[in-house]
Amino acid sequence: MKKFLALLLFLCLSLTACASDGPAETEIFAMDTYMRLRIWGDRELLSDTVDEIRRLEGLFSVTDEKSEIFLLNRDGQAVLSADTAEILTRAIALSERTGGAFDPTVYPLVSAWGFTSGEPHIPTQDELNVLLPSVDAAHLRLDGSNAALTDGAQLDLGGIAKGYTAQKCLELLSEKGVQAAMLSLGGNVQTLGSKPDGKPWVIGIANPEEPTEAIATLTFNGSMAIVTSGGYQRYFDLDGARYHHILDPQTGMPAETGLASVTVLTQDGTTADALSTALFVMGMEKSVELWRESDDFEAIFITQDRKIFATKGAADLLGGCEFEEITR
Ligand code: AMP
Ligand code: MG
Repeated sequence: MKKFLALLLFLCLSLTACASDGPAETEIFAMDTYMRLRIWGDRELLSDTVDEIRRLEGLFSVTDEKSEIFLLNRDGQAVLSADTAEILTRAIALSERTGGAFDPTVYPLVSAWGFTSGEPHIPTQDELNVLLPSVDAAHLRLDGSNAALTDGAQLDLGGIAKGYTAQKCLELLSEKGVQAAMLSLGGNVQTLGSKPDGKPWVIGIANPEEPTEAIATLTFNGSMAIVTSGGYQRYFDLDGARYHHILDPQTGMPAETGLASVTVLTQDGTTADALSTALFVMGMEKSVELWRESDDFEAIFITQDRKIFATKGAADLLGGCEFEEITR
C-alpha cells in the first residue's frame, strides 16, 4: 500500500514536472524511495547525479552485502571511505545535538520491527529489553577512517543518508557550474539557486492523512533543504493499531509524541534529514526548545489532531493552510 501511494505521488509529481518548462529531469528508484531530479543545465549532469546517488547508496545501504555499512555491521570494524567517515561523523554530532533522539545505531530495533525485511511485526518487550543497551551512538567509535562498533551496536543510516546524498549531489552540481536544481529524494527536497525564469520554488508539504496531496506550500527563492519525517511514510497496521518506522531509541517503540509529521528547513541537507527524524522523536515542546537555542533551522509541525505549527522563519514562507506561528 505504501509503495502504491508513493508511486501515485511520484506520477502526480512527474506530470506536474512535464508541464513546466526548462529543466532536464529524470526519475529513479534508489535508497528504497522514488526520486525526482531536475537540473537547469546540461542533461548529462543528470546521469552524473544518478551515478553519485547510486555510489552513495552502495556505501550506506544496510542490506547491500557489499556496502561499507553492511561490512561494518557484520565485522564490528572497518576502514571507511571519505564519504562514510563523513556521514558517520555528522551522525554522531547530530545524535549528541539532539540528546540521542537521532541515533544512527538504531538498526537492531529497526530489524526487530522487521522494517528492513519487508515483513514487519511487533517485537516483545523482552526482545526490546535485550536490544536497547546496544542502541547508543557512543558505541560507534571513529578514528579518522577507522570505525568500530562495540556492545552489539549496528548502524542504520536511513534517517540521514538521503539528506547527505542530496547535499553532496548539489555540491557536485554547483562545482560543475549549475545555477539551479531541485532534487526530491523521497521526503527530502533540496534546491540549489533560483530558477532562471525568476519564479520562486514552491514545495508542497504532504498531508499526513492523504500523502499524495499537499496540505500546505513553502514558497521561496534560493538554496534550501526541506526534509519531512512522518509516521505515514512507512508503517504497518495490526489489530487496529498503527506502528510506524521512526523509533524512540529510549523505548524501542515507534515515537508517539502527538505529531503526524515534522518538516525541517535548513541550508544543509544532512542536518535537515537528521533533525527531522530527531524532532519527530522529541515531540513539539522539546523541539521548540532546541529551535530557540539554535539559529540554523526552522520547522513545521503537523499534529495528529491536524493542527499546523510553524517556527517564525518557516511561517514566513508557508501558505495554503491555517497555522499557528511559534515565536522565539
Ligand atoms: P526519516 O524518514 O529520515 O525520518 O528516517 C526514518 C528512518 O531512519 C527509519 O526508517 C529507520 O531506518 C531510521 N530510524 C528510525 N528511528 C530512528 C531514530 N530515532 N534515529 C535515527 N534513525 C532512525
Ligand atoms: Mg531523517
